[in-house]
Amino acid sequence: MDHFQYRDGVLFAEDVALPTIAETVGTPVYVYSEATLRRHARVFREALSGVPRTHFAFAVKSNPNLAVLRVLKDEGFGADVVSIGEARRALAAGMPAADIVFSGVGKTDAELDEAVEAGIGQFNLESEEEGIELARIAHEKGLTATGALRVNPDVDAGTHDKISTGKADNKFGVPIFAAKEIFARLAALPGMNLRGLAVHIGSQITNLDPSRAAFGKIGALVAELRADGHTITHVDLGGGLGVPYRAGETLPTPAEYGALVAEVTADWDVTVMFEPGRVISGNSGVLVSQVIRVKRGANHPFIVVDAAMNDLARPAMYDAWHDVVAVEPKGERLTANVVGPICESSDTFAKNREMDAVETGDLVAFRTAGAYGATMANTYNSRPLVPEVLVSGDRYAVVANRIEPATILAAEQVPDWLK
Ligand SMILES: *Cc1c(COP(=O)(O)O)cnc(C)c1O
Repeated sequence: MDHFQYRDGVLFAEDVALPTIAETVGTPVYVYSEATLRRHARVFREALSGVPRTHFAFAVKSNPNLAVLRVLKDEGFGADVVSIGEARRALAAGMPAADIVFSGVGKTDAELDEAVEAGIGQFNLESEEEGIELARIAHEKGLTATGALRVNPDVDAGTHDKISTGKADNKFGVPIFAAKEIFARLAALPGMNLRGLAVHIGSQITNLDPSRAAFGKIGALVAELRADGHTITHVDLGGGLGVPYRAGETLPTPAEYGALVAEVTADWDVTVMFEPGRVISGNSGVLVSQVIRVKRGANHPFIVVDAAMNDLARPAMYDAWHDVVAVEPKGERLTANVVGPICESSDTFAKNREMDAVETGDLVAFRTAGAYGATMANTYNSRPLVPEVLVSGDRYAVVANRIEPATILAAEQVPDWLK
């Protein structure tokens, strides 16, 4: 459930009509609903209430906006970060360093150094080499870094290849067959408090069987490590729970996921950590765009909107589906292709789509754009960086400015020899 609903034929974000935001801020623009973010955070937490000790770390990469992070901090969430830039955002939002988990397959020495100094709560180690480096950096400072070893369980999450992370040939984690030996070597290092394991098999998971398989393998490994004399106090089960992108689509619910986790982890006796991203932020945002013109096609018309693949990359990157709806539907339907102005055929949001009829000047909303939307935006074709707005009841505020091409141009220079 989200707070983007029609009232008298106009799509609202909570108590604010989307045309009001489009008029004052311009388009394209991302609009987030604070009430929806809070609701999803609470539903997720509630779904895991059957697990005695939990820690929730919002996957910052899904939506790193400072205001969004502030809302989630307010809901008691920490952060899962994959770069020092994301860690700085989480800290800037007021999240305690101890509540931050540092994931990511290529943490540099500079990043590890800054994160250790900042007191980041847990490093999810992607390799033995990274663990050795982290221990050295912490030890040299007279500190101890807290780590969890990320294990690649060799399970196919059944999701799109580009967002699958738990198969043996994916770049993430250490192979499960080598995990015991690597754990033992890293746990023995000065500067290292290796307290547990981490696993994350992929994103937009729509079937819980692979999660059950992966968690089962992790549970067995916890038992083996304990039998070898290691102390295991934390297991991070990652994120990845999918969200419905099409009206009427049914997916595993947070409650079903929670029941599975409670069952599988019942005898683990650890703090179970979670890194949800999309399931919190996905349906909390829409991308509002204006129709530039409707152009005749060989088969179906092309609806050219002012948003493009640089603003919302998922359709071009993952062939992802986003529902496209008229902000003020007129009741008629048509079949059309929805495209952006960028000079790439992949700049296509929808093909042969049956949808609300729209004409030049009308507003459309791309639903479920709160995750992996603005965060992936870029300035390809010298387009502005898309702005973001947060709505709370009848209030709204710009929480990220539109960055104009002139600002980006101002950061470039012609070298002396060309002047
Ligand atoms: C991307 C990612 C997540 C979040 O995935 P969602 O599908 O958005 O829940 C969590 N943990 C790690 C390590 C990730 O890379």
